[in-house]
Amino acid sequence: MKVPVLELRPAYDELAPELDAAYRRVMASGRYLLGPELEAFEAAYARSCGAAHCVGVANGLEALQLVLMALGVRPGDEVIVPSNGYIATWLAVTHAGATPVACEPDEATHNLDPRRLGSVLTPRTVAILPIHLYGQTADMAAIVDFAARHGLFVLEDAAQSHGALCHGRAAGSLGHAAGVSFYPSKNLGAFADAGAVTTSDAGLADRIRVLRNYGSKERYDHQVQGLNSRLSELQAAFLRVRLARLPGWNERRVRLAARYIQALEGVGDLVLPRVPDWAEPVWHLFVVRTRKREALRSYLADRGVGTQVHYPVPPHLSGAYQACGGKRGDFPIAERLSDEVLTLPIGPHVEPAAVDFVCAQIRSFFAA
Ligand SMILES: *Cc1c(COP(=O)(O)O)cnc(C)c1O
Repeated sequence: MKVPVLELRPAYDELAPELDAAYRRVMASGRYLLGPELEAFEAAYARSCGAAHCVGVANGLEALQLVLMALGVRPGDEVIVPSNGYIATWLAVTHAGATPVACEPDEATHNLDPRRLGSVLTPRTVAILPIHLYGQTADMAAIVDFAARHGLFVLEDAAQSHGALCHGRAAGSLGHAAGVSFYPSKNLGAFADAGAVTTSDAGLADRIRVLRNYGSKERYDHQVQGLNSRLSELQAAFLRVRLARLPGWNERRVRLAARYIQALEGVGDLVLPRVPDWAEPVWHLFVVRTRKREALRSYLADRGVGTQVHYPVPPHLSGAYQACGGKRGDFPIAERLSDEVLTLPIGPHVEPAAVDFVCAQIRSFFAA
């Protein structure tokens, strides 16, 4: 049996007739940017996460950057970001002209630890930007409470959490605004780069609509220095087809995650994902921890099981942030997670039998 860590083609195969129809409709319409398909998708996506507004943009990185630009962050302003996770969160802050300040995660959930926020707060802090990592929301009740006490914005990196719930409310509606990615491998993916901002602040949504289109509300009237960050009609049409399937596809991920957890409990030194009682994750990734990661990875590879590491280098140790003086030891929890995390295959088109096969290989690795 071969179990790749990720396959994108089955999502097309399942929906081919609808996607092909959407393709022909948009191509024949003669309208390829900022048209009715985008508006229809924006309305549907906002509804799906309980936000009043959704603004489609070119990708998840620029979604976050545009939120920060629209909030008016300036050089010298600090934005608290997780010390672990994907570098895009840090880059969005940097590209908006502000400074990312890292906060360590809770080791059990891999998400930003609200108990540590006080230790990274300074008079220059303007916002907190947690990631809902691997599809499980950060502890937003505690983060929002801390932010309210200190007059900070709360933003969400919701790139991995389409449909995830926190105390019954959906990611994308848990702070002032959220940046979402529809990169093809995400739970809701396009067939190219795409992203969006969700917010219930009408003024903020308006400013982002202007900023995504060269800073112009009326053509050739540029009141602010915007970006070119538009979501195409074609991708918006594809996304609307896939959005209708998102709940069912997330449900399949939930069932596979439960299957993994049941089969792998107590195996070797594996640390399995922990889900707080207020969280309903959508399992963008299924990530375990082990001190024997490299050996387990190659054992699985030899037996046809693909794995990945999300992420092998924490942002402060990446070349991109060397100029900021990041060094080993600065964020020990993020560093330990980077050394030990392993992503197992999960997705709406992974068969339960494939998960059983992966678990059998893992048990035999630790039995040996
Ligand atoms: C995918 C991702 C992004 C960036 O999205 P792009 O659409 O690739 O720009 C940002 N943050 C996190 C946590 C992601 O996983």
